[in-house]
Amino acid sequence: MFNSLSDRLSATFQNLRGKGRLSEADIDATVREIRRALLDADVAVPVVREFTAHVKERALGAEVSEALNPSQQIVKIVNEELQNILGGQTRRINMAKTGPTIIMLAGLQGAGKTTLAGKLSHWLKKQGHTPMLVASDLQRPNAVNQLQVVGSRAGVPVFAPHPGVNSEFEEVTGDPVQVARDGVAEARAKLHDVVIVDTAGRLGVDAELMQQARDIRDAINPHEVLFVIDAMIGQDAVNTANAFNEGVDFTGVVLSKLDGDARGGAALSVASVTGKPIMFASTGENVTDFEQFHPDRMASRILD
Ligand code: GDP
Repeated sequence: MFNSLSDRLSATFQNLRGKGRLSEADIDATVREIRRALLDADVAVPVVREFTAHVKERALGAEVSEALNPSQQIVKIVNEELQNILGGQTRRINMAKTGPTIIMLAGLQGAGKTTLAGKLSHWLKKQGHTPMLVASDLQRPNAVNQLQVVGSRAGVPVFAPHPGVNSEFEEVTGDPVQVARDGVAEARAKLHDVVIVDTAGRLGVDAELMQQARDIRDAINPHEVLFVIDAMIGQDAVNTANAFNEGVDFTGVVLSKLDGDARGGAALSVASVTGKPIMFASTGENVTDFEQFHPDRMASRILD
């Protein structure tokens, strides 16, 4: 991820090396290169426009610095602006003051929600929390089973509508909203301090799915609604993110499949277009392939 963008940006900065002072033409040429590199990385057009406008404005207005040469100064500005579009500061989970912290997962089918449920619960457990998972995805055959497998790998209990009944060939019947409500009640009764509710995803955004997700949200009143998005989906990311933002008003984003070779545009666009922070990154299929998302570190990684 980001390899090509990183190379393009460093080549652009390389061109400025050795210059004593940047003319307006130098800045224009640099900003043009940055714009092309971002567009080629699939970053959404409005995000690119705003980003390059900020960089240009700041570069033109930059004080001549004793400490930094012009090329370093541009790198610094680009780094800070990248950090801004990635959401600024690291955003931690909003933990409940009393009772369980309720986290709901939403996103398209195949985005990586169920896998994330395992990773997030494993990560929380390592920090001394006592998470429980709730299988409210009754749409996809085998989803409940899959969550049970993920839960056992993470060593975390799973609340499911019909334990053991669901299989690849059999659809689970039941009301996902009721399952979510019952799951949260069970977590409360058994004194789990975090409960993670997995919900159904469809192949495309659809009204029925969104209504179901909204109904679940309203029934359990979560502290966090995490929107999981596959970083490989490129330009589609923005439309999907906007639809879920309007549909369930999520509180944070999880980027999954950051280990892939996508060009990175989704990662760079979603926080900016939705105004919601990226909180976690999923980087593989194993339960430990997961990290908290730090905008500053990601910006530095891109500019490395
Ligand atoms: P859901 O439909 O949103 O619950 O998606 P799943 O959790 O079932 O994930 C869909 C597929 O993507 C599965 O084959 C996962 O193993 C895979 N997957 C999920 N997260 C990642 C990730 O971060 N990296 C990679 N390489 N694969 C992932």
